[in-house]
Amino acid sequence: MPHTTNKKLIVGNWKMNPSTSVEAKKLARKFKHAAVSLNHTEVVICPPLTFIPLCTGRTKTAHFHMGAQVASTQEESGPHTGEVGANMLRDLGVEYVIVGHSEQRKRGDTDAIVAARLKAVLGQGMTPILCIGEHSRDESGAYLDVLKEQIKASCGDLLKKVAKSIIVAYEPIWAIGAAEAMKSEDVYETSLFIKKVFADLYGADMGLKVTVLYGGSVTYRNAPDIISIGKVDGLLVGRESINAPGFIELLKAVDLLG
Ligand code: PEP
Repeated sequence: MPHTTNKKLIVGNWKMNPSTSVEAKKLARKFKHAAVSLNHTEVVICPPLTFIPLCTGRTKTAHFHMGAQVASTQEESGPHTGEVGANMLRDLGVEYVIVGHSEQRKRGDTDAIVAARLKAVLGQGMTPILCIGEHSRDESGAYLDVLKEQIKASCGDLLKKVAKSIIVAYEPIWAIGAAEAMKSEDVYETSLFIKKVFADLYGADMGLKVTVLYGGSVTYRNAPDIISIGKVDGLLVGRESINAPGFIELLKAVDLLG
């Protein structure tokens, strides 16, 4: 299900938090409550797998969607100990899945593994949030090649009609878990570059349509500038997404941008 609206998309990556199901349920309840009054923003929360059914609830909440932090590379159920398939996530009501997060790439996900996860998620009709990002930047602009290669290696083989469901989350690794986010002006420049890579791969219309998020030390304070100056379609939020007052403030601030 591609993200086709003009609304901003705010994705909360809870990582391996919180510690208990009671806390997880409380957080989800607060975010659902906040989501109902949004007009220009859609919210996705990505709790740890075990909390997903508890956070989903029985009824659908307006502007609130369930995401997962990972899906198996395996497309079919079978003898894959420890794996959770995209088919199982879809069955739980998951609509979005984070793929290729730098913390998973660090634990061994290669571009080929990222491509396989992406394919499995797309195969179940869910929306993959493909994370890309450079370790560092220098004057020579080598980081742009890193981003281009990550995109090509994960989606270069996909047909356009399939690839158009992909959301890209640009997360410079040096800005994740850091004291400050990337400058909004630099977010703008890089998101233009990402759109150009998609245009080169799939045609000008894809360059215009691809949804690009920014992630890396986003807070309720810097979120409005990153969106309005950085001109991204939304945000992938780590730490601030488990801080209930901060995340709710962030949702409201982004929504006010219209
Ligand atoms: C992340 O890990 O995806 C992330 C953006 O984390 P943080 O917001 O804490 O930098």
